Amino acid sequence: MIYVMLGGPATGKGTRSDILSEALNIPHISTGDILRQVSRKDEEVKELLAEGELIPDEVITKLLYARLSMTDCENGAIIDGYPRTLEQAVILDEILAKLGKKVDIAIELIAPDDLVYKRILERKKCTKCGKMYGIDFPPKSENVCDECGGKLEVRADDTEETLKNRIEIYKENEKPIIEYYTLKGVLRVLDSSGHPENIIKEVE
Ligand code: AMP
Repeated sequence: MIYVMLGGPATGKGTRSDILSEALNIPHISTGDILRQVSRKDEEVKELLAEGELIPDEVITKLLYARLSMTDCENGAIIDGYPRTLEQAVILDEILAKLGKKVDIAIELIAPDDLVYKRILERKKCTKCGKMYGIDFPPKSENVCDECGGKLEVRADDTEETLKNRIEIYKENEKPIIEYYTLKGVLRVLDSSGHPENIIKEVE
């Protein structure tokens, strides 16, 4: 099964995708994570990420296709961060068709704006192993990873300024995508204000 996670910044896509990935035993593919990795070597990508701007379609599409072609995606995947525009929704169908797959379920997560701001400004990531922490999953001691003892840091693009920009971009682009998946009959809307673990029951 191919799942697409939709929702604005900090509606909890990453956390819920991780939980689902473990429960369903299929990989969680985050285009944001792929791009943050690429940005370590690519100045242009680094700048666009820091500004909260979208990365050009040809760049991100190639990366996503390569990832979806890997053998661990044979039984499906949870795609988080893509599509962000209607064009990308169409491209995703083309990529998946080449791989003999399709979008089976698109989940739209919704959460109130004040919760989104709280979530985003408090979330941190381990610089060593990548584990995420936030209001629902705080670390046992401040700024130290429970798993590996690594230092926790706020993401470079998690500032109030870029967040505003990312929410604007999301709202501008989301309507046609939601419509696209509604027409295909694969859209499910879930309230993500509750605890992230609820996602398993909700998806079931
Ligand atoms: P995220 O971790 O999903 O919030 O993504 C972080 C940043 O990566 C976004 O603000 C964009 O700059 C970039 N990005 C992630 N996914 C895409 C995509 N599908 N198309 C273009 N840019 C993307």
